[in-house]
Amino acid sequence: MNSSFCSDDFKAQPYWWDQTPRPVMETDTLPEKTDVLVIGSGYTGLHCALQTASSGRQTTVIDAEAAGWGCSTRNGGQISGEIKPDYDTLSRRYGSDRAYALIKEARHALEWLGEFVDQQKIDCGYQRCGRFLAAHSPRQFQDLVTYARNQPRGLEQNLQIVSAKDQASEIDSSYYHGGLVIERHCSLDPARYHSGLMHKVLRLGAQVIGHCAANAVERSADGYKVVTSQGTILARELVVATNGYTGEITPWQRRRIIPIGSYMLATEPMDQERASQLMPRRRVFSDTRKIVVYFRLSPDGRSLLFGGRVSVFESDPVKSLPALRQEVLRIFPQLEDVRISHTWMGFVGYTFDYLPHLGVHDGIHYAMGYCGSGICLASYLGNQLGLQLLGKAEGHSAFNQPGFQTRPLYSGKPWFLSASVRYYQLRDRLS
Ligand SMILES: Cc1cc2nc3c(=O)[nH]c(=O)nc-3n(C[C@H](O)[C@H](O)[C@H](O)COP(=O)(O)OP(=O)(O)OC[C@H]3O[C@@H](n4cnc5c(N)ncnc54)[C@H](O)[C@@H]3O)c2cc1C
Repeated sequence: MNSSFCSDDFKAQPYWWDQTPRPVMETDTLPEKTDVLVIGSGYTGLHCALQTASSGRQTTVIDAEAAGWGCSTRNGGQISGEIKPDYDTLSRRYGSDRAYALIKEARHALEWLGEFVDQQKIDCGYQRCGRFLAAHSPRQFQDLVTYARNQPRGLEQNLQIVSAKDQASEIDSSYYHGGLVIERHCSLDPARYHSGLMHKVLRLGAQVIGHCAANAVERSADGYKVVTSQGTILARELVVATNGYTGEITPWQRRRIIPIGSYMLATEPMDQERASQLMPRRRVFSDTRKIVVYFRLSPDGRSLLFGGRVSVFESDPVKSLPALRQEVLRIFPQLEDVRISHTWMGFVGYTFDYLPHLGVHDGIHYAMGYCGSGICLASYLGNQLGLQLLGKAEGHSAFNQPGFQTRPLYSGKPWFLSASVRYYQLRDRLS
């Protein structure tokens, strides 16, 4: 890209892929038959495959692109274990017991992921760094204070209120009006996590086949016949793990997922001291805007990794880069002279009720719709889905329960997104 703010070695690809390039798989041929066929090789698909392969089911994972090409190697590496709707909203919708169960299980997913990474010795820089949730207005700060002081009984967590006058210990910016530290939130390198996970799956004898798009799905006498770009495969059980990339071959799921582009950039490496001044405690950051931004330092502590939604229709991250950089400079004007080395985007899978969902529809197993919290929820619910497919009681999940909603006339292309984004941008400005 010919721009004064891009480094000479600028790349329009995820920062993480420099260290962990997309794998070139050994030439693996698609088998004619398999016990379990998983479409999608991100965290959902691989965790499901880990369960089915470890219980001896012949498992084949396919991906239309290179293995892990989707969000699972493009994300910001911030781990929360939170779902979007709060306890009051969920209680109004489903009653207090179910609200409690949903939040509790999402929080458990965070603990579960930490144990998984630890026990499996996946070298991915997993850290309990804590999050600074920054208030973008004084009113939002007051809302955070109220939230921290009135946590629902049984769902309390360690939250520290940081006022605007004290926030320099967290962030070298005067853009925010204080915030909340959530100690239990974590970070990792998403591509190294994906790579470690995939090696576990391969070691159990499962096949992961890249550049193998599923193009049609038909019922067969004994399961499913799936036509792929590498031939036809018969599968006893079929799993759809395509999340924000869910396509026309599974129209029921597609009508329930809203793909929303999220854009990221990485700065060129800074002097270590300069970078650490930006976020002295090296936490992960997000803010209270509806059109949220999120950022952190890279694992080596030298680059700023910054993400957000800056474009409604555009899916070329290079075209959106100037707008994303403006967001960076609004928060960190001192970075005017720091050049950008990478930019990329991916499609996050949202749902109409802002909850993830898993289950079986028409015999096809699915887990999806993590609404931007997929590192731990895709991993955990992919695991639960695998257990459910095997008929194991411990696969139980509260996320099976709420119905997976769609809307009339919605077929997978979010025509309403532009209006919603503009509405929320206006609300963010007014608040
Ligand atoms: C820029 C960005 C930043 C994010 N930041 C965070 C974050 O900080 N924290 C967090 O928790 N979450 C974050 N997320 C979300 C998180 O990455 C996802 O929720 C999670 O990775 C979803 O995993 P998955 O396995 O369900 O889907 P994916 O990893 O997206 O995998 C789906 C795969 O399905 C494949 N596929 C689709 N159709 C077919 C087909 N017909 N045949 C074969 N293969 C097919 C795709 O090629 C793709 O590889 C972010 C997402 C983006 C895009």
